[in-house]
Amino acid sequence: MNNKTNFSRRQFVKQNAIAGVGAAVAMSVAPTMLANCSTDTGTPAILGGTKIRTKEWPLWPLWDPASDEEQVIKVLRSGVWSRAGLVTEFEKKWAETIGSKRCLAVVNGTNALITALVQAGIGGGDEVIIPPYTFIATAIAVLQTGAMPVFVDTDPSTFQIDPAKIEAKITPRTKAILPVHILGLPADMIKIMAIAEKHNLVVIEDACQAWLAEIDNKKVGTFGKAGCFSFQNSKNIPIGEAGAIVSDDDEYMDRCYSYHNYGNPYGSMVGTVSSGTIMAGTKLRITEYQAAIGLAQLKRLEEQTEKRNVNAAYLRSQLKKIPGILPYDFVPKVTRAAFHLFPFRYKKEKFSGLTRAQFMKALDAEGIPSMSGYTPLNKMPYLKNVMETKNFKLMYPPEMLDYNKYMERNQCPVNDQVCEETVWLFHNILIGEKEDMNDIATAIERISRNADKLLNI
Ligand SMILES: *Cc1c(COP(=O)(O)O)cnc(C)c1O
Repeated sequence: MNNKTNFSRRQFVKQNAIAGVGAAVAMSVAPTMLANCSTDTGTPAILGGTKIRTKEWPLWPLWDPASDEEQVIKVLRSGVWSRAGLVTEFEKKWAETIGSKRCLAVVNGTNALITALVQAGIGGGDEVIIPPYTFIATAIAVLQTGAMPVFVDTDPSTFQIDPAKIEAKITPRTKAILPVHILGLPADMIKIMAIAEKHNLVVIEDACQAWLAEIDNKKVGTFGKAGCFSFQNSKNIPIGEAGAIVSDDDEYMDRCYSYHNYGNPYGSMVGTVSSGTIMAGTKLRITEYQAAIGLAQLKRLEEQTEKRNVNAAYLRSQLKKIPGILPYDFVPKVTRAAFHLFPFRYKKEKFSGLTRAQFMKALDAEGIPSMSGYTPLNKMPYLKNVMETKNFKLMYPPEMLDYNKYMERNQCPVNDQVCEETVWLFHNILIGEKEDMNDIATAIERISRNADKLLNI
């Protein structure tokens, strides 16, 4: 499939109609010339021109009553709602899909991370290395264990933790690295695992946005001791709320199971002093109807992931041609991404100084919704708050709880810039067709061409 042959006549006529060129005239132009999005000469929609995209984007989450509801209704009518066979079936399927020996489903991705960290022995007095370009759940999971997050700056081209900057942040307290495959693009697990082995650190992967992403044909979430996933409503496998931990370590997974079920004995986890509950666990079980929804959603994941990869690669190739638009790069050896989000950096100096907010406003007017993404996680008020808590005061010496010193140690200047420049497209956009990608490229190109006229919007 290449762009030239796939560029439909309808699209061809539409674009030229938008441009104010008569279809008859346009038809005399070779279609190959029109394959490039730069054929649009229209006025930006925000200045009164014709909107490029009027068709709806695919809805999210998807739900097909015909194929998805039978099992859910069966569960509802059975009265077996608490954890039973379907949760086990979902866990088996997810372990198989990821290529992991074991899987444990839990209430959400945040608690998957907390469980994985706590059962890997992370707690008060430890430091855990994390990126600042991630969802808040990554950082609060570390804090909930009692450990101290240490931020390592972002690689601006990949949006991932910069592996070249990890070693400088390792101290005698460092116990773990928590890489995040942010936006659904893999972090550089080959380099991260080498650093972890050298310094004897545990690696827990936050793959909460990276279902089916791969490095060298190996799924992310299977490189470290454990991988954590989220199935929250916005995610590529939407269940409403749910999460999972995967690992090949049986004893460790038995511990995780026990912890998620009040600390009751499970598998190899048996009491040594008497019978009964063996650890101070908690309660994180998911329900049978959540598992039934998950099993329905899993059926479409492979096909959608393929589509997102094909469409993202094409969109990236189109956007790279536009000055000032810098789409993501992959770390080495990525064979597949999840594309929870499609990111690019927006360089306003190449757009006559048009701010990112103005660019996004103009893009939205063309019918292309976008988001500005994360703000720096290493600068938010929760960090000051946690250092003033009773528990942290008991676990750390005063110099480690000096907020100004902590802020100084955890500066991530590259990430600050990434947060200011980045624009995201949501993954539902990528399950459309190639034509839909052309709409996005055409809209951005139109804004680029008219940037100087948009400075007062
Ligand atoms: C969504 C997400 C989480 C947390 O998952 P929940 O299911 O919302 O608790 C953790 N890390 C990242 C990177 C996420 O995107």
